[in-house]
Amino acid sequence: MTDVGFSRSGMLGLQFEVVTFSRADVFKHWPADKHFTWYPGHAWTVATCPRCSAHLGWAFQPIEWPETVTDAEFEESEQTFVALIIDRLLQQNFAATLLMTPKSFRS
Ligand SMILES: [Zn+2]
Repeated sequence: MTDVGFSRSGMLGLQFEVVTFSRADVFKHWPADKHFTWYPGHAWTVATCPRCSAHLGWAFQPIEWPETVTDAEFEESEQTFVALIIDRLLQQNFAATLLMTPKSFRS
């Protein structure tokens, strides 16, 4: 997996263009699913907008983790990331409303 992604990925038979972030203000729907993952070694949850509940993408965590973890555990880990659908971000006006840290810009 590359650190930054503008990638076209298939999940659940659909194609999305996603960008990956180390952090994003999204609501994660645990328990995480270990099947059909794009990223080997990672389980995923659906990630939705905390305000309007729109589906924005997915959050990924190490597959060996428990299926349900806390937001704090997710946020504090260097092994977790969020992949968000570019089209949805634009619709949500994310730049104005969310704090995100693209992985490419992390020190
Ligand atoms: Zn929203």
